[in-house]
Amino acid sequence: MKSLFAPPTPGPLQLEQALQLLAQSGREPPPGVPGSAPWVQGLIDALVELSSRDALTGLANRRAFELALAREADRVARSGEPALLLVLDIDHFKRVNDTHGHAAGDEVIRTVALALVDSVRPMDLVARVGGEEFAIILPNCGAGFGQTVAERVRRRIEAMPVQVSPTQQVPVTASVGGAFAPQWVRCTPGLWLERADQQLYRAKAQGRNLVQLEQAAISVVSNEEKRLLFDTFPMTDHE
Ligand code: GH3
Ligand code: MG
Ligand code: MG
Repeated sequence: MKSLFAPPTPGPLQLEQALQLLAQSGREPPPGVPGSAPWVQGLIDALVELSSRDALTGLANRRAFELALAREADRVARSGEPALLLVLDIDHFKRVNDTHGHAAGDEVIRTVALALVDSVRPMDLVARVGGEEFAIILPNCGAGFGQTVAERVRRRIEAMPVQVSPTQQVPVTASVGGAFAPQWVRCTPGLWLERADQQLYRAKAQGRNLVQLEQAAISVVSNEEKRLLFDTFPMTDHE
């Protein structure tokens, strides 16, 4: 009888399938001699990249977003820098599909994705997290800048009707919700996302094509406490 504790027998390497997946996504096969260590490294890198991207838009997918959100929550807890999470949902998107067809809907999703990338800083992560739902992680983003950037994103989408056929344009709007990561306090990525989602529901309930941001968390931790927590923290206040 096979022992429960025996290591699993490795199956055959699925190199053929891996190369087919890369080709199907329009990516080049890894450079170098097939089977060599650098080639295998290149293949793994390409597969990691492929599994982090959304096929329709090329944005980070939900998996990559969740990893990045966890990293950002950790970074905020360590550094105390503010960060903002925005979640966006296209308004009445079902109507686009119903009226103009699924391909037109896909074109709207692609165009919104481009508009989002174009409205934020290179350091911000834009992800497609669901059908017509997007999220943006903005590191080092305080309350004042947060409202400005969320409004900029909303207006940018509103100002760009999507050409879905040579003769037809579709007006598009999106609702935006946002929440700041509490500084100096550990916040779980799940709770952070939930708080941003609650703001998105408010924006939808209040009529759509709106931004709703949760009030920025106020840090009540003194510099002395910060010094005890993080002994490299620069003491700027009188001690
Ligand atoms: P609301 O303003 O409340 O968000 O209304 P809505 O119509 O946008 O919301 P709902 O969730 O009812 O509709 C989302 C639709 O998105 C339903 C689904 O068929 C469509 N959808 C999901 N993924 C895709 C996709 O990849 N391509 C296209 N074309 N449609 C998609
Ligand atoms: Mg939706
Ligand atoms: Mg929607």
